Amino acid sequence: MRNGLRLGLARRWALWRQGPRVVAYCLASEVAAAVLALRTAPPPVDRRTLLVLGALLVLGTAQAEVGRQVERNQRRRSGPPHINMTSAWTFAGVLLLPPALLAILVGGLYLHLATRSWYHLPRVPASRTVSNAAIILLSCYAAQASLRLTGIEDIRSAPAHGWAGTFTVVAAGLTFFVVNALLVLPARRRIGRTPVELFGTWSDNGLELATLCLGAVNALALVTLPGLAALVLPPVVLLHRTVLVKQLEVAVRRDEKTGLYNTTGWHALAERTLAEAERHNGTFGLLMLDLDHFKQVNDTYGHLAGDAVLRAVAQAITSSVRGRDDAVGRFGGEEFVVLLPGIDQLDVGPLAERIRRAVSTLTVPTGQSAITGLSTSIGIAVYPRAGTSLQRLLDAADTALYHAKATGRNKVVHVTDLV
Ligand code: GH3
Ligand code: MG
Ligand code: MG
Repeated sequence: MRNGLRLGLARRWALWRQGPRVVAYCLASEVAAAVLALRTAPPPVDRRTLLVLGALLVLGTAQAEVGRQVERNQRRRSGPPHINMTSAWTFAGVLLLPPALLAILVGGLYLHLATRSWYHLPRVPASRTVSNAAIILLSCYAAQASLRLTGIEDIRSAPAHGWAGTFTVVAAGLTFFVVNALLVLPARRRIGRTPVELFGTWSDNGLELATLCLGAVNALALVTLPGLAALVLPPVVLLHRTVLVKQLEVAVRRDEKTGLYNTTGWHALAERTLAEAERHNGTFGLLMLDLDHFKQVNDTYGHLAGDAVLRAVAQAITSSVRGRDDAVGRFGGEEFVVLLPGIDQLDVGPLAERIRRAVSTLTVPTGQSAITGLSTSIGIAVYPRAGTSLQRLLDAADTALYHAKATGRNKVVHVTDLV
């Protein structure tokens, strides 16, 4: 390969696109993991330890093979943080293997995940796999350090310490959990602000803790009745499948193309908001948006570019509203709806205007050129003035939208302004 070409490819590595902070952090954690893995000359390894490593690699690989589809769906849909169940094997490794062999276990499992479960997924470039593996290895070493603080070399020597041995193993698991949750934060390009964005949901964290519990049981089985380690496999596989339930729950409510609410999800939220407003004599606003001359975008730039425009518009609307309570939905095609709980008659106009302006300043890159000059028409209806049922409000917003289209497009019309 010519040097220029090689440099060109290196420049296109996904890692460099992550921003300097993330790049520096990922490289630093990889160097730290490598230094720690090689810090001591590997001790003479006995046959039993090698068999433990082999068993954990085989079990971990088998589980990843069975859970491949769940894993691919999960990675395709949602951003981090998420759980891939490897700690059932890596935490057993923490309790049983010397540092160098632990590095081989983590490296082997992640290499398998990268080549079998994550290949060709844009969210998981090779550089991310390497930094994920480095972070897991650092979490493993932190857990081992906490174990050795109390003089316990591995789980084989824990029973001699009685209850202290038990607590030490639990503390090592918690150390793994906490250190891992903290170490992954700076490796993300965008760090959220809410606890769920930072650390995942209760069920994500519960799943990780359950996996660690199975890791400890696994280690115990491997040093007493090694054949029983295979019994850990079915619960790990089934636990991993519970992730599917969540995937389906989300899929039912979300529009695949834009990630916004779909009609079903949006209606459910709107009905709840309506009931709330009725109970507390509250108010809420409803915007209906339709892109202007969108057919021309498709005809000029193609359907894929049209889809990119839909995603950019979805993003523009989402960032113009408050995020947490305001629900943005796509009712199919190039029609969007926004639910604005608590907003009153006076504020809703300026907000709709802000969205209209945000869409009009969008630049959407397509292969060679960029699409600009987009515009949208917006119809507004506010509860209870424009209607007291959801259908009435949607009809009112639609009437206002129709009026915006009929009177020149690229404008906001409030249904109460029509007489
Ligand atoms: P108007 O200003 O009157 O709204 O004109 P328009 O061209 O936007 O309206 P029309 O409803 O006639 O066209 C909507 C177009 O949206 C037609 C359809 O091909 C396109 N469309 C619908 N769904 C999708 C989609 O998911 N992706 C893409 N790229 N285009 C879509
Ligand atoms: Mg349109
Ligand atoms: Mg339309």
